[in-house]
Amino acid sequence: MSEITAITRIARQAIETAKDITDLEVLRVQYLGKKGELTALLRGLGRLPKEDRPSAGAAINESKGLIEDLIQVRKEQFEAAALRERLDAEAIDVTLRGRDGDIGGLHPVTIVLDRMESFFRSVGYDVIEGPEIEDDYHNFEALNLPEHHPARAMHDTFYFNPNLLLRTHTSPAQVRTMESNDPPIRVICPGRCFRVDPPDPSHLPMFHQVEGLVVDSDISFADLKGTVEEFLRVFFENEDLNVRFRPSYFPFTEPSAEVDVQCVHCLGKGCRVCSHTGWLEVMGSGMVHPKVLEYSGIDSEKYTGFAFGMGPDRLAMLRYGVDDLRHYLDNDLRFLEQFR
Ligand SMILES: [Zn+2]
Repeated sequence: MSEITAITRIARQAIETAKDITDLEVLRVQYLGKKGELTALLRGLGRLPKEDRPSAGAAINESKGLIEDLIQVRKEQFEAAALRERLDAEAIDVTLRGRDGDIGGLHPVTIVLDRMESFFRSVGYDVIEGPEIEDDYHNFEALNLPEHHPARAMHDTFYFNPNLLLRTHTSPAQVRTMESNDPPIRVICPGRCFRVDPPDPSHLPMFHQVEGLVVDSDISFADLKGTVEEFLRVFFENEDLNVRFRPSYFPFTEPSAEVDVQCVHCLGKGCRVCSHTGWLEVMGSGMVHPKVLEYSGIDSEKYTGFAFGMGPDRLAMLRYGVDDLRHYLDNDLRFLEQFR
């Protein structure tokens, strides 16, 4: 009996001072396991006098029960502590500031289009849109490009059928404007155009144009020159920007001129961007061909006009130093995030 009491006392002490669940498991095996101390005592009952066996057996079982209970209580204490610790570690600090949401940004071409529109709106132009699917008449014929005109071949057109096509420039919008409006007309038409061009650093099958058209009495080349120069100086944020007009040919304007600006990278000294010429070609322009006015029902004796067309994709390249047009369509965030 004293042996049972002693074992129980030592076990209780050991359980109370156990450091963790692993310690408890060692103690459980030590006292209650198949080879445990109490199990050994039970096995040894047979050696006791017969009359002592029941009371000894009862005492051993009572001790086993007590030790089991003590281990269980201690185990629950450990588990509760572990749970508390984990909850503390995983606690959410509701006072912490949240991560900033990503609200995205505008595409560089969109930014350039917005700048163009805001300039021309500020000087009294309307912004109009035309259909991207055009008919042959508006895309070519009414712009003085009759069937078999050699300049048509340069347009590499996507045709749906012989009469229906994806517009190759925004100029058909000026025809539609002149058909439905009487002078004075003062509009720009920004929009997408399409040509059969495999994508490379300077060509895309889908690109943007901004077409400008002014028709009124007494409109002269000087008006065209003044408007274009002022726009380019505002656009490139350089009041002293040199602009030059070079004679050129477009079927829908006469006379026609290509417009160059002093290279915005080297300021005219010559660099890789301007092919060491010091100049960058930025738009085509000219006085509206009298035939084009007549096609749209405007009296070319009474009215004159000028038109210009430029590429926002290319202007965005110049403004932001983009070296490959294909970046515009890659949807690569590392590229797009630079223009916030
Ligand atoms: Zn240059």
